[in-house]
Amino acid sequence: MSAAINNIEIQKAKTSKISSIDFDNLSFGKVFSDHMLLCVYKDGMWQLPKVVPYQPITLDPSSKIFHYGQSVFEGLKAYKDTDENIWLFRPEDNFRRLNISSKRLSIPELPEDYFMAGLKTLLQVDRDWIPKSEGSSLYIRPFVFASGNGFHASPADEYMFIIATAPSGSYFSGKLKVLIEQTYSRSANGGVGFAKAGGNYAGQFYPTQLAVEKGYQQVIWTDDTTHEYIEEAGAMNIFVRINDTLITAPISDRILDGITRRSILEIAKTENIPVEVRKISVKEVVEASKNGTLKEMFGAGTAAVISPIAAFGHEDKDYDLPTLENSYGALLKKRITDIQTNKSEDPFGWRVKV
Ligand SMILES: *Cc1c(COP(=O)(O)O)cnc(C)c1O
Repeated sequence: MSAAINNIEIQKAKTSKISSIDFDNLSFGKVFSDHMLLCVYKDGMWQLPKVVPYQPITLDPSSKIFHYGQSVFEGLKAYKDTDENIWLFRPEDNFRRLNISSKRLSIPELPEDYFMAGLKTLLQVDRDWIPKSEGSSLYIRPFVFASGNGFHASPADEYMFIIATAPSGSYFSGKLKVLIEQTYSRSANGGVGFAKAGGNYAGQFYPTQLAVEKGYQQVIWTDDTTHEYIEEAGAMNIFVRINDTLITAPISDRILDGITRRSILEIAKTENIPVEVRKISVKEVVEASKNGTLKEMFGAGTAAVISPIAAFGHEDKDYDLPTLENSYGALLKKRITDIQTNKSEDPFGWRVKV
């Protein structure tokens, strides 16, 4: 699976949309760069990727993506530093996870070079689309789906791998109020919760909508068997600080192995923050809130890096988190974003130059 490619075909867009974009007022993932990477799987193999103009795609109504949901994706960002260098953050981890997700959904895995060289070529073609202002970045969305057709309930014989990019401003959701979910589950033992599969999101929307109607922005997912242990915060991994210890749930087949989560665990060690990776019970969090030892809760993921939680709801009661001067969340976010944007040393070797 290590086919090397030297030359990726580039079909340039005839005109650029870039002058119509207000780079000072970017939202998240709403406008798309001029080009995309396109790679097709057919005749039993991945064909060479190409950079083509960003454009709609045509699919047969019987394409299996519409019926059987074979679809996986990734999310990462490109950053431009003050010297116009372009940087990625742990992109090989996104490549590996895309293939882990694909395998679980019977989607053929991609050769590493198609992903990495394809991504770097795309970023070079659209380098002017990478914003420079504080907090902004080029959000990168690689995804693979079943384009092959037929109503037979079996894996498709054709797939598309696309990387589309969107210049995005800082993803600031404000402080979150979250509801600990006691009825619905986003994943189950032996299921696809560890995969970044589109269907996992579809299943989250309805319970999240119910929580929104009750005045919360997000759901804290609990284990599907007992709903007694917290597992993820919406589409982010979850961290809890009790006294001075930072705690996160262990990865399982129900929990997504987040790159932000993994980075936080490593940075915390170098900052001498005591860390525990273990099950966190709802009861423990409620007790800690009552006795004042619950100091912080936050979600961790690529889009916002760290999303502080201001309050959580459980059994018709809301529990407020304190506002801290020196939060772990703020410190860890600064450490990560400084590495991502080439503002600090990178002792971990996570930053990759394009
Ligand atoms: C993408 C995702 C995360 C965060 O992963 P990162 O690699 O840190 O972006 C966490 N949980 C779920 C369910 C996700 O889909």
